[in-house]
Amino acid sequence: MKTIGLIGGMSWESTVTYYQIINTVIKEELGGLHSARCVLYSVDFDEIEACQTRGDWQRSAGILADAARRLERAGADFFLICTNTMHKVAPAVQRAVTIPLLHIAEVTADELLRQGIRRVGLLGTRYTMEQDFYKSALTERGLEVLVPQEMDQEMVHRVIYDELCCGIRAEQSRREYREVAARLADRGAQGIILGCTEIGLLLGQEDASVPLFDTAYLHARRGALESIGK
Ligand code: GLU
Repeated sequence: MKTIGLIGGMSWESTVTYYQIINTVIKEELGGLHSARCVLYSVDFDEIEACQTRGDWQRSAGILADAARRLERAGADFFLICTNTMHKVAPAVQRAVTIPLLHIAEVTADELLRQGIRRVGLLGTRYTMEQDFYKSALTERGLEVLVPQEMDQEMVHRVIYDELCCGIRAEQSRREYREVAARLADRGAQGIILGCTEIGLLLGQEDASVPLFDTAYLHARRGALESIGK
């Protein structure tokens, strides 16, 4: 079994999910008392969020590159950055180590294509929805990406930082997310990417008329399977 490296804490609310999914998959696959071999380096999210707000991606890349080096030294064979947004600095983090990064958008794109989805809605932080670093990993694979309209984007972003990353799951926000998902489906989205690792804590398949693709689940599952060569 390979050792999985996890850069977590962005936020820790969703890193908990990663740990649970990875171990659940290993247990399903190997049975008995099997559990995952993994190393977690969890950052202080306050520091990362401050970099995001200032637009100081270079500093946050440095913090994550340092985390990746620590994972490599601790024996990780490959690693995951447990957030969509921070894949903005994925190339710099990958350059800092020799172990490979399992990219969250590539894992997600593979699953969309496997399920025959071509046009997909994307929910995430405003960095993920607005900028190109994430969407390009999808469009390069032939997917068409729809993002919510401006006001919906603001609400989706605010709920991530003010509620989900703070452990708050509000029924009102769930209703609003459900409406945003419905508007994306009306515009032709055949599926919707929960492109922020906390959204799966709020929204489930029962909240949408089209398939939801929870990036935390897909990413963690792929990592677990990768570790046992599947
Ligand atoms: N976990 C979130 C994501 O997947 C947002 C937190 C962050 O900015 O890293 O994008």
